Amino acid sequence: MANIVAIVGRPNVGKSTLFNRLIESRKAIMDDVSGVTRDRHYGYAEWTGKFFTVIDTGGYVVGSEDIFEGAIREQVEIAIEEASVVLFMVDLNTGLTDLDKDFASVMRRSKKPVLVVANKADTHEKAMAMHEFYALGLGEIYPVSSQNGSGTGDLLDEVVKHF
Ligand code: GDP
Ligand code: MG
Repeated sequence: MANIVAIVGRPNVGKSTLFNRLIESRKAIMDDVSGVTRDRHYGYAEWTGKFFTVIDTGGYVVGSEDIFEGAIREQVEIAIEEASVVLFMVDLNTGLTDLDKDFASVMRRSKKPVLVVANKADTHEKAMAMHEFYALGLGEIYPVSSQNGSGTGDLLDEVVKHF
């Protein structure tokens, strides 16, 4: 079975930044199939000799301020269906929001492994803010900075354990 990692979460948490980092840093080929797949972007990546597909799911909710629960459910359910591992991204700069909680309630019903990724951990001090996200009830939190790359190695070490 193919190894597929889906990145989900509300707009502006940094999903596309992580996606681009995973793809570019591995010098993989990005295969943009938006339009066919409702603006989801697929790319190929590699970590410690394991190859996988990454899905950036955010495309079709960008630009809408109000995301209805149906749209969230649809995004998450499509991702969960396709993925072997789901990365649920939250934002340390904004902290926990109601929309994060809506996503989390859908995630908790997933039978696929869900890793909570606390993005924008640009400094060690910022990473400490991840603790409030344990309230989501999804277990371990992985602090990363998609911008400067810190924490992404530890996250990927965990991701590839599920392949
Ligand atoms: P998406 O809507 O979830 O795909 O989010 P984007 O990847 O488009 O990023 C939203 C904003 O967050 C952009 O302005 C990014 O530059 C910024 N951003 C993404 N990752 C980081 C990070 O690790 N640290 C900081 N400080 N900003 C980030
Ligand atoms: Mg995006």
